[in-house]
Amino acid sequence: MDVLEQPYRVRNFVKGEFVDHHSDNLDLVSPLNGAVIGQVPMSDSQSLDGAVRAASEALAGWSSKTIKERAKVFFRYRTLLESHIDELSNLIHLEHGKTLIESRAEILKAIELCEFAVSLPQIIGNEIQEVSKGIECRVDRKPVGVVAAITPFNFPSMVPHWSFPNALVLGNTMVLKPSEKVPLSMIRTAELLKEAGLPDGVFNIIHGGQEIVKALCDHPDIKAITFVGSTKVAKIVYRRATATLKRCVALGGAKNHLVVLPDAAVTSTASNIISSMSGCAGQRCMAASVMIAVGDVDPIIQKMLEVANTMVCGGNLGPVISQDAKQRIENCIALAEKQGAQVILDGRDPVVEGKRNGFYIGTTIIDNVTPDMAIAKEEIFGPVICIIRVKDLEEAIHIENSSVYGNAATVFTQNGADAAIFMDRASAGMIGVNVGVPVPREPFSFGGWNESKFGVGDITGKSSVEFWTQLKKITYQW
Ligand code: NAD
Repeated sequence: MDVLEQPYRVRNFVKGEFVDHHSDNLDLVSPLNGAVIGQVPMSDSQSLDGAVRAASEALAGWSSKTIKERAKVFFRYRTLLESHIDELSNLIHLEHGKTLIESRAEILKAIELCEFAVSLPQIIGNEIQEVSKGIECRVDRKPVGVVAAITPFNFPSMVPHWSFPNALVLGNTMVLKPSEKVPLSMIRTAELLKEAGLPDGVFNIIHGGQEIVKALCDHPDIKAITFVGSTKVAKIVYRRATATLKRCVALGGAKNHLVVLPDAAVTSTASNIISSMSGCAGQRCMAASVMIAVGDVDPIIQKMLEVANTMVCGGNLGPVISQDAKQRIENCIALAEKQGAQVILDGRDPVVEGKRNGFYIGTTIIDNVTPDMAIAKEEIFGPVICIIRVKDLEEAIHIENSSVYGNAATVFTQNGADAAIFMDRASAGMIGVNVGVPVPREPFSFGGWNESKFGVGDITGKSSVEFWTQLKKITYQW
């Protein structure tokens, strides 16, 4: 793909080739300025059949290679990611809208995920033991087969990298369905994987929407699916995929709480909270969404206002993904205001020089929110944080525990005993102490609790080894 060539004509990638499709197309719109930059195919189940066939045909050859051989391909791919980082960052910036610095950080994270994948040969040594005199038992890890990954718009490159490097190094072959809102970076990924020496058919991409997701869940030749997206769709996918007896891990939405105690360090807490809620324009499943202010933390809130005022739409703050998303977020702010909350920093309808048609919302802070308000409970997915004021840590934990979600939760304090109580009792899969975005980096695994994840295990790290393999137990004597 020529990255400068617009409009982009997105095509499916099957058996190592970009293939034409006969389906409806969707406009691909850049959030930076609202311009149509290409067309994305809304593929049908027939296109999927071709991709699954290609993955099935490639399976025997790919899975019979040694894991070291498979890892070598990803070692070369990782190097290609590094040498193409500017080009890939530009693509993410264009299709998603996040800033170039954030786009680059996403590729750096994809590189780190590949580094974990290439280390798998060192991690998954087979077990062997003499279980009776002269009789040995050995456990081999075998791939599951043809697998699939379905991904959201907010990390066009990183989230697909949560799944395909590990799945492929472990011997599976894959069909990926990227978000129809951000299909470009995965096109380049397919080309770079081919250049790295990945055999045709091992990695295939089918673009589309709901129809393809349903067809992936129903397809009898697909053995396992990872899904990342909203809770509403995670439930649909988990139910449908497991109904056809597939393995499935489905990561959903989030509403992350940050508890701020009065002894928290003022400057670092304020800047951590603002970068957590406004990074990638708040479109991160790890973004701060609710600040629970325990007692008097007004100096921290004042400092947050100061830091938030340095966030500039079209500069260090990118747009949200679509006009619909912008409208929805602005409606959430208006409703909170109507219900009695105070908007102490209002980012609605900013003027962004030179990018008037971009989908921008400025950093927004809403104080005196109560736990029953919609803005305190629902995922906003924009650069908005609400502040709920409580009297003590106990009340804060109660509010955090009441959320239906459970992706991340953080406490800001200098008191180790309070931090220990929070670490123990917060109901979330990823906990931070004085860390605004507590993403567990490799080799630790990523995954939430409650309605932020369905299925057993996490999506990355050692947990993914269990997901992408099955155990063969061999007992023998000579
Ligand atoms: P989404 O659920 O709308 O879409 C995700 C995928 O599902 C896309 O590929 C889309 O084409 C498909 N899809 C959409 N609607 C569908 C339907 N009705 N039936 C079948 N398939 C459907 O999510 P999104 O808007 O692309 O991404 C944002 C969401 O993803 C947020 O809720 C965010 O919290 C979540 N997310 C979660 C994590 C996590 O680790 N838990 C990580 C990233 C994003």
